[in-house]
This record gives sequence, C-alpha cells and structure tokens, in this order.
Amino acid sequence: MAIQRTFSIIKPDATERNLTGAINAVIEESGLRIVAQKRILMARREAEAFYAVHKERPFFGELVDFMISAPVVVQVLEGENAVLRYRDVMGATNPANAAEGTIRKRFARSIGENSVHGSDSPENAAIEIAQFFSGNEIVG
Ligand code: ADP
Ligand code: MG
Repeated sequence: MAIQRTFSIIKPDATERNLTGAINAVIEESGLRIVAQKRILMARREAEAFYAVHKERPFFGELVDFMISAPVVVQVLEGENAVLRYRDVMGATNPANAAEGTIRKRFARSIGENSVHGSDSPENAAIEIAQFFSGNEIVG
C-alpha cells in the first residue's frame, strides 16, 4: 500500500476545550504523520463550500454555524492507507456508536459536535487539502 494523504479538521468543540494536543497525540500514536497544520477561523462561505455535499440535509445550517463558532485546526495527515486509517482512528460519526479508544469515543460531545473531520476517499482528500493548503505548506 502506497503512502497516502488525508485531510483532517480538529473541530470547534475540541479546540474550545483545549484538546488539540490530546487529539494530535492519538493521531501520532496511530502512526499517522502530521505533515501540515494551521489554526484558522473558517468563514461562513468556506464552511458552506467544504460541506456542500450535505447542503440538502436538515443539519446543514447547524453544521455550518458550529464549524464557524470557534477556531479549527486544519491538517494534512500522511501514512500508509491514511484515508481509511484515519477514519478508524476517528471512530463512527455518532460517538455513541464509536469504538473504544477512538477520538470520537474519547472526546466527542454529540453526533454534531464530534471533534474531528476526516476525508472519506482519496479523491475527496485531494480536493479538501487543496481548499486549505498550498503545496509548499505541506512538508512530508
Ligand atoms: P463524518 O464526519 O463521519 O464523515 P458525515 O460526512 O455524514 O460524517 O457528516 C458530516 C458532519 O455533519 C458530521 O461529522 C457531523 O459533524 C455532522 N452531522 C452528521 N450527521 C448529523 C446529524 N444527524 N445531526 C447533526 N449533525 C450531524
Ligand atoms: Mg463525511
């Protein structure tokens, strides 16, 4: 399996509780490498564009409001099979269904305020990374 990159966001519920380092420790312990990272406050348009795939869902407005409510940390993670591996490290969308030891089981507050985002495919990872990072900001 080739080295792959995925896109991660540490969400507002986690940055507000000062959990950036704790979540990064789980990421690094899993063997994934943080090859780019920055703390930003997303603009409404940016959050709407990022989650455009969900725009018809009933929770879309709530999701956008949440994502711009406090700073987030956007990241590029690198490793073998990084996309699927990070989905495993994150755990299920709803923390009630997340496996023991996963980020969402340990830290998420609810299905909406669930502490982290991770890309769901290599194609989406490339699109999401390009939305927030230029090539020279990623150092593997
Ligand atoms: P994931 O982040 O696990 O890929 P989705 O892509 O299905 O999950 O949803 C994107 C985000 O939208 C979730 O991480 C969560 O923050 C929010 N969300 C998903 N489902 C709900 C829901 N039923 N109610 C409120 N927010 C939700
Ligand atoms: Mg998703």
